[in-house]
Amino acid sequence: MIEEEYKRVWAECLNVIKDTLGPENRKAYDTWFVPIVPLQLEGSTLTVQVPSPYFYEWIEENYIDLLRRVIRMQLGPNGMLKYSIVMDQAIPSIPLKTTLPSQSNQRSTRNPLTSMPMDISAGNMREIPNPFVIPGMKKVRVNSQLSPNYTLENFVEGDCNRLARSAGYAVAEKPGTTSFNPLLLHSNVGLGKTHLANAIGLKTKELHPDKTVLYLTSEQFMQQYAEAGRDGTTNDFIHFYETIDVLIVDDIQFWSNRGAKTQDAFFHIFNRLHQRNCQIIITSDKAPGELQGLEPRLISRLKWGLSADLQAPDVETRKAILRQKLNNDGIEMSDDVIEYIAYNINTNVRELEGALISLIAQSSLNRKQITLELTKQMIDKYVQSSSREITIDYIQKVVCDTLDLPVDVIQQTSRKREIVQARQLSMYFAKKITKSSLAVIGMQCGNKDHATVLHACKTIENLRQTDRFIRGLVDDLEKKFKEA
Ligand code: ADP
Ligand code: MG
Repeated sequence: MIEEEYKRVWAECLNVIKDTLGPENRKAYDTWFVPIVPLQLEGSTLTVQVPSPYFYEWIEENYIDLLRRVIRMQLGPNGMLKYSIVMDQAIPSIPLKTTLPSQSNQRSTRNPLTSMPMDISAGNMREIPNPFVIPGMKKVRVNSQLSPNYTLENFVEGDCNRLARSAGYAVAEKPGTTSFNPLLLHSNVGLGKTHLANAIGLKTKELHPDKTVLYLTSEQFMQQYAEAGRDGTTNDFIHFYETIDVLIVDDIQFWSNRGAKTQDAFFHIFNRLHQRNCQIIITSDKAPGELQGLEPRLISRLKWGLSADLQAPDVETRKAILRQKLNNDGIEMSDDVIEYIAYNINTNVRELEGALISLIAQSSLNRKQITLELTKQMIDKYVQSSSREITIDYIQKVVCDTLDLPVDVIQQTSRKREIVQARQLSMYFAKKITKSSLAVIGMQCGNKDHATVLHACKTIENLRQTDRFIRGLVDDLEKKFKEA
């Protein structure tokens, strides 16, 4: 058989298909048959390439009889068609456009024309990265774009995130039917918005495998919307989003002062989903009231449900997060090392993780044990670059270490002299060094009121004049805090 035979065969098939469909179906012909590329002919099997799995499914659902007829006309009663489908490399962080053949890996799906159309939902194909629904398409599985690593189980709970985390759990249990719709998670960077939103998505899928969950960033949404506009597929775009049961849009502040049309489209989708009791989860770096440059009607929608914030974790939560990360990676570290990191890195969880990773990398590169000494060197360097803020926690820790007491004595009601002194010293330095109010200092130092803090400060001032031991201690501590 000559080399170009496959092209000729397919051209013949196209002619027949075109004639059969007739001029009134010219658009369908252009849409569904012209993009098919013949690849090879082996015996009586013709292999063609189709641009995407939905494309393949659509053809199979709508044109199977026609195809079977023309293939047999050209290739005899044993004529078969084999599809090679261009697949997307579906990595969650990569936005979503239908693929270009040059970037894609290919995969053949053999379909003897005698059999039923292949069942895409049966798991014999990769999931489809966010397809735009082609009208009439069924059985489309959406790749949720969720990361398997950000689970609810490894999202450490603390006072800082309790409300958001439990609201998230409730939403995953009953998506769309709690009053937390939309659920808006907001916080500064690195405090777990993306992790928690992703975790809610995973939990929803675990509890409701039939629900279609989709996670994407507001930037991806905007990009897709622009692309749909260019390709004239805006309706498909909107239609696709209306099929989602749980829609998670991360970092919505990205739309501030831009993307008015994107916001319009989202507003429309939001309303449709909300009407149908589908769950919407949004994250943002600000509370809805403070989000500027977003359309007022969109902001008002965001206020319909629950808005829950994530605060910076306290030192106990920071320790728990470190322990959990180490546990996940199967790495052991002594408690004093963990404490040192937890006390010294208090900006956000991302930095906490960053410090931990650098430390582990340092130790394995230099084949050194992770000792407190190594940790101090490393963390001090790490912290210098991100300007350390001395916190009340840190002060309590240094005071108690110096007095050789466990740090939780500060929270006890004990009236033992040394404990009272540790508490008073902590209050004294907290007032001197931090910007916290007397009330806040009191609350964090054993739940005392502001008058107690004031009294503590006066007591330490006085003792400093009269008591040599206290004077030495205060000077010593002052030096430590200066060095920090
Ligand atoms: P954001 O989206 O708010 O900027 P991320 O969700 O990206 O923050 O969180 C930054 C890092 O901190 C992630 O690696 C995340 O796993 C981790 N992290 C944040 N909060 C927690 C928590 N409560 N428990 C465990 N890990 C957390
Ligand atoms: Mg994030």
